[in-house]
Amino acid sequence: LADTSALLLSRIRDVADYPEPGVMFKDITPLLADPVAFAALTDALAELCVRSGATKVVGLEARGFILAAPVAVRAGLGFIPVRKAGKLPGATLSQAYELEYGSAEIEVHAEDLAAGDRVMVIDDVLATGGTAEASLRLIRRAGAEIAGVAVLMELGFLGGRERLVPALDGAPLEAL
Ligand code: AMP
Repeated sequence: LADTSALLLSRIRDVADYPEPGVMFKDITPLLADPVAFAALTDALAELCVRSGATKVVGLEARGFILAAPVAVRAGLGFIPVRKAGKLPGATLSQAYELEYGSAEIEVHAEDLAAGDRVMVIDDVLATGGTAEASLRLIRRAGAEIAGVAVLMELGFLGGRERLVPALDGAPLEAL
């Protein structure tokens, strides 16, 4: 895993002051363009899904989709998109959450999750944890259990892990 982490880290590009001054953006496009690194990431996340006993894989829009879809196929599990409000055509559950400035809302198709499901949530970067926390609330409201949250990167100085702990309720947060 140390070798995998080093490979993955070497394929992430830091872009200063994007999308606004003061933000160090973690660009995963070099990783996605490297088939060896992308496969290693997919395998590592799929293994976490299988070990956790997950029955479904949730990806968070938008970069979470890119990672979670191949993970779901690799793990032999269904993929469920959690989308920004207004993008899903069927009956949805919605969850609003606070951003630094203003608020946001995410949705899931209500019929995609049910009691008995164990859900692994996947995203590229855990920053403040607001998005992941809202997704956990959404998943629980749909009646499903949380298998865990798995991200490529955790920006520890933003305190996302601390924010997520209550919503995780004992489920693991894994950062590769
Ligand atoms: P969060 O603050 O944890 O809710 O982060 C929200 C979303 O923004 C995550 O899905 C990340 O993909 C993205 N994000 C936040 N900060 C960064 C960053 N520094 N570099 C790349 N993506 C980020």
